[in-house]
Amino acid sequence: MEVEEEKCQFCGKQAKHFAFAAFVCDSKECMDKAIDERGGPGGHLKAKRHQQAMIAFEEEQKKVEKR
Ligand SMILES: [Zn+2]
Repeated sequence: MEVEEEKCQFCGKQAKHFAFAAFVCDSKECMDKAIDERGGPGGHLKAKRHQQAMIAFEEEQKKVEKR
């Protein structure tokens, strides 16, 4: 699977990441949308889950960079 051959599911630009079960570009807005779609409506827990998801994603990116 080549991420760069895919398009961002939210704005249609070239995808840079496969995150939260969606292809997304470098835009933070699109990343946020991917998290929201994955997390779904979560009321007051949503913000916290969002934050945790971003941390997990950043950790994952660090691991990739080290390889
Ligand atoms: Zn995008």
